[in-house]
Amino acid sequence: MTCRDGRAARNACDRTVLRGRPFVTNNEPSRIDHDTQAYWEGLRARKLTLARCGDCQHWIHPPKACCPVCWSDNIGHEQPSGDATLFSYLVQPIAPGAPPSVVGWAELVEQPRLIVVAEIVGATAETVCIGARLHLEWVGDGPHFQPVFRQEATS
Ligand SMILES: [Zn+2]
Repeated sequence: MTCRDGRAARNACDRTVLRGRPFVTNNEPSRIDHDTQAYWEGLRARKLTLARCGDCQHWIHPPKACCPVCWSDNIGHEQPSGDATLFSYLVQPIAPGAPPSVVGWAELVEQPRLIVVAEIVGATAETVCIGARLHLEWVGDGPHFQPVFRQEATS
């Protein structure tokens, strides 16, 4: 199997791994290329658009030139439901006196370890909870909206 440029699929994927990650959750993309274009265009339209293999249906995020499971280069883009659980998080200080930001690893319900890193809203450093149910929301008004995940209130 070969990728778009005719090289062996495994080599193309290895190159993708080495050339860096578009793993940016703010609204200023560090790099837009063929693999990341659908993601950034989706953010502009308030849509979380992730790569998905057209052959084995594996979700791929961050996007890659070919599927890490079956090495296919038949990569499409789809929108997940926006439902997730909190896989992990960190509490990020913003400024002295300001409440810290909670940044979470949201594991989407579509696939184990399909992780989107984003701010967690509806939770503080004291109330954030690994395993909590999350739902996608949007903030921002710039050229790209920013996905955040709201932690459901627990009773
Ligand atoms: Zn695949």
